[in-house]
Amino acid sequence: MELITEIFGASNVAFVLHGMERELTRYTVFAVSMYVIIVLILTPLFRQRKIRRSTPGYSQMGAEFLRSLRTMVVFVAMDMLIFRALGLRGIWWDADLGWPYWPWLIGSVIVGVVWHDTWFYWMHRLMHTPRLYKALHFTHHKSVNPTPFTAYSFAVGEAALEYLFIPPLVLLLPMAPGAVFWVIMIMFVKNVTGHGGFELFPKGSYSHPILRHFTTVTHHDMHHSNGGGNYGLHFTWWDRWMGTEHKHYAARFEAVASRKRGEVAGGAVPGPAETAPVSLSS
Ligand SMILES: [Zn+2]
Ligand SMILES: [Zn+2]
Repeated sequence: MELITEIFGASNVAFVLHGMERELTRYTVFAVSMYVIIVLILTPLFRQRKIRRSTPGYSQMGAEFLRSLRTMVVFVAMDMLIFRALGLRGIWWDADLGWPYWPWLIGSVIVGVVWHDTWFYWMHRLMHTPRLYKALHFTHHKSVNPTPFTAYSFAVGEAALEYLFIPPLVLLLPMAPGAVFWVIMIMFVKNVTGHGGFELFPKGSYSHPILRHFTTVTHHDMHHSNGGGNYGLHFTWWDRWMGTEHKHYAARFEAVASRKRGEVAGGAVPGPAETAPVSLSS
């Protein structure tokens, strides 16, 4: 440790250690909590909501956890590079805007989430082009049947791209103090539930006037089972505007959400037959 502090300086070492502690705590708390909810609540009580019949094993989750550790190292390295090595500061930092805090915070979080969704859609869609897929995104899709631990299971290049939605928010916009924290918390909830394999949205969400705007668990689950299409993170907007929503998404979502107690994937009710995933035209 002494040698490391000599090379990098004590405050930089503290910055990295604090960053790793923060990343590891967030990821572990969210992924493990979702896993516990799946094992203790969803599997015994809401089995009909399980999107697919099979369940990934511990070896997959272990591999995802190790890849996620690498992602956290990348995130901290990016923090280090942008905010310490380059010393970049937001153009609005320290400006006295005099705005009331709570409306400012809520507005900032909404802007942050919408921006993240936009960044994610286009970055994700770009990573599905043949040239970039293998180098950047194939690692995430090793999890054909995802788990909550898939949330950060990225190659190094994808991890860096995933991080890059943050600097424009922090550096260019007058975000309220604490807003980026909540944008990241919302991302975690979406990420671990979206990879959880259990549909949590109510029946009829696909055409509900409000819920139709949000991506369901089946939305991202189909992305893992079928490849291209359904690229969005939080909202269905970009996929609908750009014509990349999976053509069987509505039918598959409603088939899962409409199952009654005792019915399971591939059972009596037509559901997402994982053995015969529908192929994508896009
Ligand atoms: Zn993808
Ligand atoms: Zn995924």
